[in-house]
Amino acid sequence: VIHWHDLSHPFQIGMPTPDWPGEKDQSFRLDSFKIVATGGHQDFVCLNVHSGTHVDAPGHFVEGGESIDRVPFDRFVGTCLVVEAPSGPLERIGATAIARHVKRFAGTDMLFIRTGWDDRWASPEYGSHYPFLGEDCAQLLLDNGIKVLGLDTPSPDAPMRSGLRRGSPIHTMLLSNGVLIIENLANLRSLIDVRVKVYAIPLNIVGAYGAPARVVAHELIDDA
Ligand SMILES: [Zn+2]
Repeated sequence: VIHWHDLSHPFQIGMPTPDWPGEKDQSFRLDSFKIVATGGHQDFVCLNVHSGTHVDAPGHFVEGGESIDRVPFDRFVGTCLVVEAPSGPLERIGATAIARHVKRFAGTDMLFIRTGWDDRWASPEYGSHYPFLGEDCAQLLLDNGIKVLGLDTPSPDAPMRSGLRRGSPIHTMLLSNGVLIIENLANLRSLIDVRVKVYAIPLNIVGAYGAPARVVAHELIDDA
């Protein structure tokens, strides 16, 4: 019997939204209504595809890069190691936090890093004070053949208004080297140091540079 883990946050009214000042209204909106003629419920949603649990496509930061519909489907499925790098507000995660796991993730397609930040999903600082990756950490992933990076934070780059961000160097490093990024993962706690098979299937939205995904996983028994 396969024991499944849902690594996604639910989309719902009041969920955290990207913290990009001066941009459009980013909040998740749901308008449910009933068509009188048929009696059927209908639901209209409005969301930023980079809110909630989602996959970034290369074109998100790479000029001329692929949109999510152009990324081959099999890139969203693979073997994955979940590691822990407990990190506090605005903490930079360097290569040393991950280096001890390198031997174990050799040969896996994906690496998911649990910082513990998903515990603050419902709190106001979730989008503004999350920990972020250092360039040395991103380089370590590239050097070791990781094809998909997953985080329990909104972004691998520092928060917009933290004063610590200049451009988007980590997104750019990863996406320009063909590494996809999954953001806002949840429920990684019980999978730390566990090898899993991940299915991170985003909605197939033509022309969008990311899309929400229901990310699910099950433990790998040997090389199943
Ligand atoms: Zn994104």
